[in-house]
Amino acid sequence: MKQDNKNSIRKISIILIAIISIIIAISVLGKTTQLTQLKNNTNTQMMGYLIKTDNGKLIVIDGGLKEDAPNLLSKIEQEGGEVEAWFLTHPHMDHVGAFQEIVETSDIKINKVYTTLNELSWYEQYEEYRNPKTREFFQTLENEKIKNNLHEVELNEKIKIDNINCEILGIKNPEFTDNAGNNSSMVIKMKIHNKSVLFLADTGVESGQKLLKNQKEKLKADIVQMAHHGQNGAEKEVYEQIKPKICLWPTAEWLWNNDPGTGYNTGNWKTIETRKWMQDLGATENYVEKDGDITINI
Ligand SMILES: [Zn+2]
Repeated sequence: MKQDNKNSIRKISIILIAIISIIIAISVLGKTTQLTQLKNNTNTQMMGYLIKTDNGKLIVIDGGLKEDAPNLLSKIEQEGGEVEAWFLTHPHMDHVGAFQEIVETSDIKINKVYTTLNELSWYEQYEEYRNPKTREFFQTLENEKIKNNLHEVELNEKIKIDNINCEILGIKNPEFTDNAGNNSSMVIKMKIHNKSVLFLADTGVESGQKLLKNQKEKLKADIVQMAHHGQNGAEKEVYEQIKPKICLWPTAEWLWNNDPGTGYNTGNWKTIETRKWMQDLGATENYVEKDGDITINI
């Protein structure tokens, strides 16, 4: 009789342990992070990503033009109206315009804004002609809603947001005064579950070479955001080191087809050449901004 009781207790214990293990496994394995590449809402190229972490925290990278703000804002509001971290890669309007519009006109909460910025005078000296609105962006950073939440990132800084481990692989490069703003883009690597995602922003040829020189071992990633909207940014050698399987293209339709209105591949952009590089490198999945908001579950 005693032996029977012992056996029963043992059996019940084993069943309980099995049930608890299954529950734990489901709760861990069942979690996904959603990475959304945002569509362009005008015919202009732009860049915006929205990430929803395992526990529903929101991360935004750039956001696009002012005209792209409503689409992004509605998504943020649907998820509760609070952004945990907003990364601004560089102060060009196709990246920070939506951020400015949202800060100035909405009441969503932004807990942290990550930037890498040269002095305003530097931008005005080296690229006033192509980007006259940088002063307005600097004024937005003075807005009461965010001015105490700004954080200027450091090279190789590690930032953990919920289940996502970020590392800053590239920051401002004031020594590059050609293609100045782009060459001062923030480069972010994120580890999400067992996948890595590399955001190159508008990395140019020079800052791409610097990445290759200083961060070579860290560049490998499963998913890459193509530099400078997929053309005339980082060179092929950088992508050879990244060896991605999936490419995210913040690329408008005309740019994807290198078509200024005169037919496929008749323009001067280097998108078709860049697409060929990625094909040669075995990156078989392409997600392109022109095709609308696209969400990848990681
Ligand atoms: Zn851009």
